[in-house]
Amino acid sequence: MPAEILQKFWGYPGFRDKQEEIIRSVLSKTDTLALLPTGGGKSICYQVPALMVDGVCIVVSPLIALMRDQVAQLKNRGISATYLYGGLSKKEIAIELQNIRNNKYKLVYVSPERLQSKAFLQNVKRTKVSFLAVDEAHCISQWGHDFRPEFRQIATIRESLPDVTILALTASATTAVVDDIVSQLGLSEPTIVRKSFYRENLTYKVQYDENKRQSLLKLAKAKPGSGVVYTRTRRRTIEIANLLKSKGVSADYYHGGLTNQERNLKQDRWTKNESRVMVATNAFGMGIDKPDVRFVAHYDMPDSLEAYYQEAGRAGRDGKPSTCVLFYDEGDILQLRSFVNNQFPTMERVQQVYTGICNYFELAYHSGLEARFDFDLVDFCNKFELPAVEVYASIKVLQKLGYIHMSEGFYRPSKLKIDISSTVLYDFQLKNVGMDKLIKTILRSYAGVYDFYTVINENQLAQRSHLPLSQVVSKLKILNDLKVLTYQPASEKPFLTFLSARVQEIKDTEGIVKENQLRTLNRLEAMIGYVEGEMCRSTLICQYFGEDQPEICGMCDVCLLKSKLKISQTEFIEIEKHIELSLTAKPLLIEDLMTVSESYDQETVLAVLRWLISDNKVITDKSGYLRFEK
Ligand code: ADP
Ligand code: MG
Repeated sequence: MPAEILQKFWGYPGFRDKQEEIIRSVLSKTDTLALLPTGGGKSICYQVPALMVDGVCIVVSPLIALMRDQVAQLKNRGISATYLYGGLSKKEIAIELQNIRNNKYKLVYVSPERLQSKAFLQNVKRTKVSFLAVDEAHCISQWGHDFRPEFRQIATIRESLPDVTILALTASATTAVVDDIVSQLGLSEPTIVRKSFYRENLTYKVQYDENKRQSLLKLAKAKPGSGVVYTRTRRRTIEIANLLKSKGVSADYYHGGLTNQERNLKQDRWTKNESRVMVATNAFGMGIDKPDVRFVAHYDMPDSLEAYYQEAGRAGRDGKPSTCVLFYDEGDILQLRSFVNNQFPTMERVQQVYTGICNYFELAYHSGLEARFDFDLVDFCNKFELPAVEVYASIKVLQKLGYIHMSEGFYRPSKLKIDISSTVLYDFQLKNVGMDKLIKTILRSYAGVYDFYTVINENQLAQRSHLPLSQVVSKLKILNDLKVLTYQPASEKPFLTFLSARVQEIKDTEGIVKENQLRTLNRLEAMIGYVEGEMCRSTLICQYFGEDQPEICGMCDVCLLKSKLKISQTEFIEIEKHIELSLTAKPLLIEDLMTVSESYDQETVLAVLRWLISDNKVITDKSGYLRFEK
């Protein structure tokens, strides 16, 4: 039973809305498209059936860091899983493929560019595959906000495994994207399970504001509990965090330029409520799973509603009332338009960057297919005197055109595998006494180093072997050179993979770049439509994601304005004055306030109160008392 598996491995008492329906559909071998909002629990939908069906479940996922996190979590739950991505060496891949064939794993995560490799396809044909899960399936669609051409390769695996069931999962489901996923993946008569994008506990608010700093400060003070503030630039995360701190708000900052260690530390402190407000770029999000985020504020406007919904949606996972505020001014819209245009450099520039990269890696014409390099963007830009923003954008274009793929920069821990048999190793130890202590410590610390590339920690090895860290590292390098073992030191650089051999001239025969530009601009217009619109914020979001009859929330700034207008202006002011007087006399629980307001219509009092709360004139303190803020 699915529920028993869920209970046994995850300890969750039951499924969330739609999860079981999706799982049953997969178990009945029906192609399925699951549309659940972020945080809706999509992973469970393939992880649970993967444990119930014979064979290995192949999960395609676009982000390596995400795969790594998931595999780590599964292992913690006692589920065998691994992940394959373009950045692994040939040797590593060969060993993993062997383990897959030998049924060592229940789930194997692969990045889409891995799917194309012959070795992978051949091995998969000889393996029993339970089903294929495609996570973040919108990446297959040009209509989506995150098109990744590599996703198109997923169809090829279907040719190798014609009978395998596909489960596609995504949180961004405009009608165009849904249709595209179905046709690109070749889903046959799929069951489509859709959970509404309506989040009844979220109050959306858009605030046109010439003094964002002041308003943000007010918001952070008015809403006790955890919060996230999104900004567009790394520098601003620091500025805003400092501003908040200087005014006594516990805050920290987070962006992609920090080391892996710093990021983990900051995230950890925030998760444990040691810091309250995280000011972050959109690098903060993946793998964040804090239930009690009370507000998400956007200091800068995102470039699509998909992104906004996803980021704002990190508020209120526990179902309790939470607020999502987007601040904007005229300048923002202008800036955003130019930012979006900058994502599309001229083809001359793209060509220049392509040639530069090929020369940087000393690649000859017609060579380099599937070659992979660690890539230091800053160093490259310095050498070729190119602006980083344009280089980055150009690489993204090259990726869309299928020339080069750039992985995200992510932390790869040190790894090690012993390459000789235990008898040969023993012999080696006898002859090389200086290595004996370290090798013994490795063997004692890490089971499986003969079979797997095992994550190691050099510090730990140094402690346990009583050798200085520098010696541990240099000895590992020597052992690597002697081919006793393979040692891969940790790295945090992104890497580039050449998806085709070097060509003289790059081409965009299908007009992919233009198309893409158009779609990006359309998404931006939808975002602008959201902030400037006069429709209930929840309704507009649900409509955007293709829901037919969305509800009206009654709580967002638009709904409040409308309900406020139904009350006459004098009545509104009268009640506001009454609330102000009552709460200034002393803070009250909501019931008490209602009692002292008995002479007024209760519905109207509530409406005014909601308005005042959303305007931060009235705040709720930790014990639930309402206070009036002057
Ligand atoms: P999504 O991929 O849809 O954004 P995830 O799969 O990452 O969401 O799940 C979000 C969080 O919800 C995870 O911490 C997950 O463990 C939790 N979760 C999922 N299903 C359940 C459930 N049935 N009961 C309790 N927690 C769940
Ligand atoms: Mg997910």
